[in-house]
Amino acid sequence: MSFSFKALLLTMCLALLPLAFGYWVNATARHAPTDARVAGRCTRYCEQHGCPHATAANSPAFFRLKPLYVATIKFLAMGGMGLYAAANIAFYVLLIPALLLWLTYGALRNMSTIRRLKQQPRS
Ligand SMILES: [Zn+2]
Repeated sequence: MSFSFKALLLTMCLALLPLAFGYWVNATARHAPTDARVAGRCTRYCEQHGCPHATAANSPAFFRLKPLYVATIKFLAMGGMGLYAAANIAFYVLLIPALLLWLTYGALRNMSTIRRLKQQPRS
């Protein structure tokens, strides 16, 4: 295992893309983000209370994935609802992104190693 600064730099640049996209979506949205329930569209209220707009006809994926969503919440709340927020942040903000960054860095480092080995003359 060797360290590759180029792979690390590319991984960090790739990691910034979702943040930039999230900023762009929030900055250019027609409606400012709100926690209030709005009759005609989804808001953060839907994320926090379950979406009243979703029906089996307009959101079949929502209803197919709902058991996974409920199981995830039960898993994160195993330590009690007092620890739910901390477990949620640890899992979705720290663990999953760190795993994805590690896998991305490893793939990019391996790609650069393979490219370098292909360029070496065979003896
Ligand atoms: Zn909604």
